[in-house]
Amino acid sequence: MSSLFPTYQRFDIHVKAGKGTQLIDEKGKTYLDFIAGIAVCNVGHRHPEVQKAIEEQLNQVWHVSNLFHQSIQEEVATTLANHSSGDAVFFCNSGAEANEAAIKLARKHTKKHKIITFTKSFHGRTFATMTATGQAKIHDGFGPLVNEFVYLPYNDEEALKNEMDDTVAAIMVEVIQGEGGVVLGTESFLKTIQQLCETYEALFIVDEVQTGIGRTGKPFAYQHFHLSPDIITAAKGLGSGMPIGAMIGKSYLKEAFGPGSHGTTFGGNPIALASAKATLNIIFNDSFLVEVLEKSNEFKQKLSEMLKAYSFVTDIRGKGFMIGIECDDHQAALLEAMRSKGLLALGAGPHVIRLLPPLTVTKEELNQALQIIEESFSETKITL
Ligand SMILES: *Cc1c(COP(=O)(O)O)cnc(C)c1O
Repeated sequence: MSSLFPTYQRFDIHVKAGKGTQLIDEKGKTYLDFIAGIAVCNVGHRHPEVQKAIEEQLNQVWHVSNLFHQSIQEEVATTLANHSSGDAVFFCNSGAEANEAAIKLARKHTKKHKIITFTKSFHGRTFATMTATGQAKIHDGFGPLVNEFVYLPYNDEEALKNEMDDTVAAIMVEVIQGEGGVVLGTESFLKTIQQLCETYEALFIVDEVQTGIGRTGKPFAYQHFHLSPDIITAAKGLGSGMPIGAMIGKSYLKEAFGPGSHGTTFGGNPIALASAKATLNIIFNDSFLVEVLEKSNEFKQKLSEMLKAYSFVTDIRGKGFMIGIECDDHQAALLEAMRSKGLLALGAGPHVIRLLPPLTVTKEELNQALQIIEESFSETKITL
């Protein structure tokens, strides 16, 4: 009998250790980890530079709260600002908290409360971020929800133009929907959001919790589309597994988040920040990101070539190392077959297999993964 709330259906794998792209279970079986802690371990498990930074911070101080100045917060905030359209950062502990902060800031700054989000989005599990999430199954049993969120179809410019007016405080969007099935926003749709926000004095919030921190081959995925969001939220990949989130906003928003307006005990914790500093030092580097794009493009090309033979594969899409394989059916069987052969991948919605390897994955590991995918797909085809 487990002493845990059964909120998660877990794989039958008892993890013992991790290094780079590899996970090792208690029986000694090794896996290629193309889940990476759900897009968290972007530099692999226990990257030596990150581990060293954490160890050094462990020998300094573990926690003091935000009642004190901590230079590492300023350093990481400056790095995030220098690589985004934002200027100021609020540190917290998770993606949901970063989005929660964005929603609160949008209300306070605009003095409005209606927020537009999109169907199949995912923004978190707190009350406001759960409400922001455009999926009924996430809301089920928890009502009444927070006023006032409006859900529109993703990539539908007409629906957005019809809904938009000056009562809207913010539009919140993932430029690539992660949990919703690795669905890419179109440049024209995303630019329409930006422009409507400018026209109606609403804030343009981009949820980069999954897509950010190099995952798509840019520091933030919105940078593929030449946008300038008012608020960007980050979390997953930011701390390489140490819990951390960040809300990054433009400087004119500072006034609405003055002393006492919002807070957190643990947010900005120096151990998480040390991990983030070392992580960003590796990822926010042009040659690293160019390599991510090269490796991922080559991998996607080989994958597409290989999976042409399977009529149940309807699409292969994504950016950088956020890759979705859409299958008419058989998602669960394929994931299971891959897992048994030592490749960990994730579902996204009922029809998509999501691959999120560490950005540091080697070409050799990518080729091993391709081989396992091929074997799994051909076996599944035969047994159907
Ligand atoms: C995972 C995720 C969140 C929630 O992050 P938590 O750290 O689990 O609270 C929010 N938005 C997106 C896009 C995510 O993928």
